[in-house]
Amino acid sequence: MRNIIKFIILFYFYLLYSLKELLGKERKEPIVRVLILHYVSENELGKLANLVDKLSKDWDFISGEEFSLFKEGKISLKRKSLLITFDDGFLSSKFASDNVLAPRNIKSIFFISPGFIDTFGNDQKTYQFLSKNLRLNNIDASNIPNHFKPMSWDDVRSLYKNGNIVGSHTLYHDKVSLSFQQGELVRDLLESKIRLEKELGGSLVSEFAFPFGNIESICFDSYKQSEEVYLNVYSGFRGENYIGETGIVKRDAIDLSAPSFYTKAYLLGASDVFYKGILRGFLKV
Ligand SMILES: [Zn+2]
Repeated sequence: MRNIIKFIILFYFYLLYSLKELLGKERKEPIVRVLILHYVSENELGKLANLVDKLSKDWDFISGEEFSLFKEGKISLKRKSLLITFDDGFLSSKFASDNVLAPRNIKSIFFISPGFIDTFGNDQKTYQFLSKNLRLNNIDASNIPNHFKPMSWDDVRSLYKNGNIVGSHTLYHDKVSLSFQQGELVRDLLESKIRLEKELGGSLVSEFAFPFGNIESICFDSYKQSEEVYLNVYSGFRGENYIGETGIVKRDAIDLSAPSFYTKAYLLGASDVFYKGILRGFLKV
């Protein structure tokens, strides 16, 4: 029932916003929307390729470095643009990057939880991380699907060498609002950064994405502390990012198994209104 309501609402907004776009009432100054993906199953690879090709007609794809410069007001963009981010550190996300995005010259940000990468090659530990830390249910412990398996540290280094950004996602995919209450947030934030930088041979890790990304897992205090450790802090709050804008980065989670107009509806801003109130406290503009 919930899915039917979601379908109807998104379809309604999709039509409404498409019409608005057709009539030329869209904001003229190029904006950036940041996509969140996690794992990509084998049959979703084709869907990702199709989606990227369709979106390329109206959007440019930019890298994490370009996004950072845009945020600082140092570069302007010709067209509205998209930045792709992958959370957690699934090997299937690297596969998608190597086979779908790299041939199209698209670079992404990979937000990695080192504790997940450390389970590489040990299915029992991977299963524990998937169920306890990532809270993924209904996975068969004795037969973990390939798309749920983690990258190795060599895979992480390979992504970095190929021009993608590696960002932090806390050591163990911790709920940061809880870590903050327990006085452990700074440790969580720093340990993850130090570990990633060590594995990358001393390269700076400046980007951070909150695990879970919803309002229950991000409090304003935890955001402020994250900002002291990292240059850019990414949420799961939907919305447009503007040139020279300070404050938390807005991102759109997308689901490759859902109808493709869902993604188009999100990118047209169909759900932004639900995040406006929350974001007021997180943006310093
Ligand atoms: Zn995550």
